[in-house]
Amino acid sequence: MRKPIIAGNWKMNKTADEATALINELRPLVADAKADVVVCTPATDLAAAAAAVRGSNIGLGAQNMDYHDSGAYTGEISADMLLNLGVQYVIIGHSERREYYAETDETVNLKVLKALEKGLTPIVCVGEKLEERENGVTAEVVRKQTKLALKGVAEGDVAKVVVAYEPIWAIGTGKTATSDDANDTIKEIRAAIKEVFGNAADEVRIQYGGSMNPKNATELMAMSDIDGGLIGGASLKAEDFSKVVNY
Ligand code: PEP
Repeated sequence: MRKPIIAGNWKMNKTADEATALINELRPLVADAKADVVVCTPATDLAAAAAAVRGSNIGLGAQNMDYHDSGAYTGEISADMLLNLGVQYVIIGHSERREYYAETDETVNLKVLKALEKGLTPIVCVGEKLEERENGVTAEVVRKQTKLALKGVAEGDVAKVVVAYEPIWAIGTGKTATSDDANDTIKEIRAAIKEVFGNAADEVRIQYGGSMNPKNATELMAMSDIDGGLIGGASLKAEDFSKVVNY
């Protein structure tokens, strides 16, 4: 019912030339994928990446955007600027942006609303810190983050949102949530969406992210509520990323 979606988050890696080379290598390897395939490149790579993905089944995403339409916001990038380059997806509220760039539940929400208004698909990241997991408040944390991120979203729009559940302690650490743990937390996220949006929650695609790689992708993707992955480190090599995509 929900088409899986596997997205690579390249973070601050790859020049525009390297992006072109990586996408050219990736294209034939993922051409038969059952899942939607997306690469979220640095902003400086988007134009080159848009040209490189043309005519393929690879979607293009940004890693952040501003929630204003335009104006005096030095260094920022608007939804229209992304759309003009052919971008379809945008990661919003990645834990690194929340931690290092003062992204809050409020700015995440404003960005989600702006992305939907403009016709971009937001990939909204939520997830607990290690300390929160150890204190047994994971469900509470992700439920709250999810509801705040989706505040004010029209009921008819919620199925357009992709949520990425990323336990922060699993990002870039080689530690993965067990598939059962990840699935249970994703069920909590879906339940929180259901409380606000009703059965439309069953259409929302919820990814797992956190050291997902060719070795663990099959097991994670076999779980009932895991609808894809947001892949950091393993998205930087065409061979690894394609193995995750073709789990
Ligand atoms: C991420 O940054 O979204 C991520 C999941 O990274 P990694 O796969 O490297 O843990």
